[in-house]
Amino acid sequence: MRPVGAGHSFSPLVPTDGTLIVLDKLSGLIGFDKKSRQATFAAGTRLGNTGPLLEGIGQAMINLPDIDRQTIAGAIATSTHGTGLQTGSLSKYITALRLVTPQGEVYDLSRDSQADLFDAARVSLGALGVITRVTFQNRDSFSLKSQTWVEPTQDVIESFNERMNQYEHYEFLPFSHSDYSLVIAHSETHNPLLAPPPAEDAGDLFALISMIPVSLRKPVINFLVSSLEASESVEASHLALTNVRNDRFNEMEYSIPIDSGLPCLKEVLQTISDHQVDVVIPLEYRVIASDDTWLGMCTSEAKASISIHRMAGYDYRPYFDLIEPIFWKYGGRPHWGKVHSLGYKQLAALYPRMEDFIEVQKNFDPEGQMLNPHLRKLFGFSKR
Ligand SMILES: Cc1cc2nc3c(=O)[nH]c(=O)nc-3n(C[C@H](O)[C@H](O)[C@H](O)COP(=O)(O)OP(=O)(O)OC[C@H]3O[C@@H](n4cnc5c(N)ncnc54)[C@H](O)[C@@H]3O)c2cc1C
Repeated sequence: MRPVGAGHSFSPLVPTDGTLIVLDKLSGLIGFDKKSRQATFAAGTRLGNTGPLLEGIGQAMINLPDIDRQTIAGAIATSTHGTGLQTGSLSKYITALRLVTPQGEVYDLSRDSQADLFDAARVSLGALGVITRVTFQNRDSFSLKSQTWVEPTQDVIESFNERMNQYEHYEFLPFSHSDYSLVIAHSETHNPLLAPPPAEDAGDLFALISMIPVSLRKPVINFLVSSLEASESVEASHLALTNVRNDRFNEMEYSIPIDSGLPCLKEVLQTISDHQVDVVIPLEYRVIASDDTWLGMCTSEAKASISIHRMAGYDYRPYFDLIEPIFWKYGGRPHWGKVHSLGYKQLAALYPRMEDFIEVQKNFDPEGQMLNPHLRKLFGFSKR
């Protein structure tokens, strides 16, 4: 029995020969509290639908990931996050959730009601049962000024620590085989709305670059990206923080202790260059505040996260296999929803509460009805 959200995970958390549970019809705003700025959603609600619904009641999510196609339950199950030193994953802001176990028991979990199970269920990989509703701590609705520009990667790295404190949401995307990065910064504003420029199809740029032999790319990419114009816009937060990504790709992402993030990124970029890896999609470097979930990417400490991508249709394995050991060397934890090769032993060393989580899983699901081969590998179950 595997619950599926929007099917946007790159790792095989969902596939099963058994029963797929689709929560598309369990969607919408169930209730809200004006004073505490909390709102409860049916768990199948797409993130993209939460923005307008919350705007209608004067609230907004504290942060959002790069896209908004995911369902709430799917996003929280993998510790999905955006960027911002002061803002954490979506799971951080859950104040209550309802979980239906494979045995048919219904648990209403919160900080005040079975806090341990609550911390386990806020990032559950869909392994504890089906989550049917989620309450979030939100804030008053707000607008963000979005600024994007291209800048030499060396300068972005040198100014990163200062700027990650300066902007509410800050990230950069280094172009491989190039000296430049795309920088994206968001800051809260009360200025009037200002529409963003029409979105350009990055696929055309990637297709052009991929026609050039890797060894000859650097001057061309430098020329093409350094001439991209800076842009500025002001939008409601849920629109400013999320994007449309039409290109299909595979992705690996690790969270790294924040002080090791930039050294790790530099080694990744150097390795791509040394090995002349034929990759065109830029990397992505973000920061995320800590939370106290058991299986979060940022449990107990703020992290930097580094993502690498490969266009769909290309074999991503050689590239990801080359880079993944660098993430391990810097103490990285994999994103549960993205490609990684780790199994139980390595994961148990990275997640101090892994054993506790597995105990909860066994209690809620004694017959292993929620397990598929990927989850068995993660939890070290050979038979269940
Ligand atoms: C283009 C793109 C951009 C992305 N950007 C980001 C980003 O900026 N930040 C980030 O952190 N991640 C990002 N991701 C990864 C994505 O957010 C996660 O993989 C997320 O889990 C996908 O949500 P989903 O609704 O598609 O869930 P699915 O992929 O369908 O499922 C994910 C997990 O949730 C479980 N699940 C689903 N519904 C339920 C339920 N009702 N109860 C219990 N468990 C359930 C599933 O069993 C599975 O384990 C991105 C992915 C893509 C494709």
